[in-house]
Amino acid sequence: MFNSARLELTGDCDIKCLYCHAGEKNKACYKEQALSHKRWLEIISECKDLGVTNFVFTGGEPLLYNRWPEIIEACGPKTEITISTNGRHFSDNNLSIMSKFPQIKEFRTSLDGLSTNDIIRDGSSYKETLETIERVRKKFPDKKIMIQTVVYEQNLHEIPQLYEYLKKLDIYRWRLSQLWKTIRTEKNKDILDFSEYDKMFLLYADIIKKHQSDNKPFMFSIDNVYYSWIDKEDYAPMSLSDHPCSYNFKFLCVNANGDLIFCPALNLPLGSIREQTIKETIESSKWLNDFKSITVDFLGCGKCRYIKICGGGCRADSQRWLNRTKAIDPNSCCMMPRIEKIILPLLGKGEQEAFFSLINQDGDFPLIYGKNIKEAVKLL
Ligand code: SF4
Ligand code: SF4
Repeated sequence: MFNSARLELTGDCDIKCLYCHAGEKNKACYKEQALSHKRWLEIISECKDLGVTNFVFTGGEPLLYNRWPEIIEACGPKTEITISTNGRHFSDNNLSIMSKFPQIKEFRTSLDGLSTNDIIRDGSSYKETLETIERVRKKFPDKKIMIQTVVYEQNLHEIPQLYEYLKKLDIYRWRLSQLWKTIRTEKNKDILDFSEYDKMFLLYADIIKKHQSDNKPFMFSIDNVYYSWIDKEDYAPMSLSDHPCSYNFKFLCVNANGDLIFCPALNLPLGSIREQTIKETIESSKWLNDFKSITVDFLGCGKCRYIKICGGGCRADSQRWLNRTKAIDPNSCCMMPRIEKIILPLLGKGEQEAFFSLINQDGDFPLIYGKNIKEAVKLL
């Protein structure tokens, strides 16, 4: 029934990213609602009964949850575990505990550039993060390390140099994603901007070309734009009668207060598993029932030329920008023509043909456009 679970062990974090989507959870009032350790152990057991074999532990900072080793132990030896961490807790003691758990297969940590990282991810240091990656790599040559970078106007110029640093570090994957609209990005709008699409896509193209000419030293992805490992066989048309997020239906996502959410990006509780089981919560969730009834056809994309490849975009983006999950995604509308014009020519011949075959040449271009996402939604 499910294969993966993302469990947010705590809302606490000891750095303060100025855009953090979980920033509101790093407060005493959220801590008061935290699930008990006993309930977490039950949740892990329920997840396993539901078929979960991949666990991602996150936060806040999951290594600030003092009893994290007992949580890993409870997952058992036959699971695959990823720890998504701010990178500041790879002490010798923690590394030694981690070495007892071969089921920990991957670490994910964030780095948003060079000196800009240290300003926007307040409390983080890019130099220390690079050193930590090197140290963890030496200690665990067999574990995967993924670096996540959020892209915004302020750090665009540092991304090429960051690529050069990462190239030397034997990481497994580098993931770029766009800034999300969150309570914190709104509060910090004077120092943090959504990047302009044209500049951002020129940067993307530049990095993709470098990565290709370097023989792809690691897996490289740009959310909703580019996946360096994609093959022509991976391009399948989205059916208009399918749910736009059907790929996520086998994924469980639990917040530190027991809220079950659909995915990290769409942080709307579909129910709470504090007092009832995951199964009971899912079966009784009116929100989930209603959400699952959405189809691509229902979103209002009309005769968009990209509908078979875009599928109406991301429900979290439509919620963030239009306050509705049942609407087109304005961010995808702005990006799809640029993906066709700038990214498509960089793909292999077979992938280009597969992508091209999914575009309806007689269809319409999306009506939403703008220099950046904020401008685009203002014009609506
Ligand atoms: S809401 Fe967006 S991020 Fe979440 S599953 Fe759907 S497409 Fe993916
Ligand atoms: S580009 Fe916009 S209009 Fe076209 S399918 Fe995507 S969300 Fe819908």
